[in-house]
Amino acid sequence: MTSDLSLLRRIQTCDNRIGELSEEIARLPQYVAAIEAKLAAHKRQLAAKQAELEQNRKDRRHLEGEIERARETVAKLQEQMNSARTNEQFRAFQHEIAFAKDKIASGEDRILDKMMQAEALEENVARAQADLRVEGEKVAAEVAEAKSRVAADERQLAAEKSVRAELAAQLREPLMRLYARIQKARGTAIAAIVGAQCEACHVILRPQLLQDMKNLSDGALTCETCGRILYFEDEPEDGVALEDPAGEHNLGQA
Ligand SMILES: [Zn+2]
Repeated sequence: MTSDLSLLRRIQTCDNRIGELSEEIARLPQYVAAIEAKLAAHKRQLAAKQAELEQNRKDRRHLEGEIERARETVAKLQEQMNSARTNEQFRAFQHEIAFAKDKIASGEDRILDKMMQAEALEENVARAQADLRVEGEKVAAEVAEAKSRVAADERQLAAEKSVRAELAAQLREPLMRLYARIQKARGTAIAAIVGAQCEACHVILRPQLLQDMKNLSDGALTCETCGRILYFEDEPEDGVALEDPAGEHNLGQA
């Protein structure tokens, strides 16, 4: 394999990895949002339980108000009863007082019920708070993990870019331009010859082109169908000596 093809293959490998890393980095915000969305159900659950408890407290305050007013009524009626002139008037006061006292008693019963319900409701709220706390910690850990993975991606991306820049600097300008043009149009600029086919478009290559490929001493030839730069997959690279500055050019590894 010519040095040119060897360089082109290595640049392509870099670009593939740069593409993958960039995509993963770009997906982070969406990924974090999806993780955090898991908390929403727990937050709604807690809010519902808190609302039930609040309603219970409101009901109790309302009952307490009613009882307070009934007590005032009783006191007023007892005072007025002193001035009753007839037995009928007296019995009417007694009747009204008894009615108000019943109201007080039933109100007090209902407050007791509410207080017992409140205990269960408070437990519900505490449980929902605990669930939310546990889920919150889980989510925070997942988000932290995602962020640290992306931080590692960013470091690797920087290393890939610097390796690529070194490779690109060694490639002749017209070939670099050819590569860039095909890469932009096709997503990948180079394709292996597998059997007698272009691996990208699967078209069988002309025997003359295959022969020219075998005799190629420098430069590159392209597939006549898809336009990609061709190379023989099983041909060893001719050893482009290149320092790997980041020590991470063994691609695909963390
Ligand atoms: Zn092709």
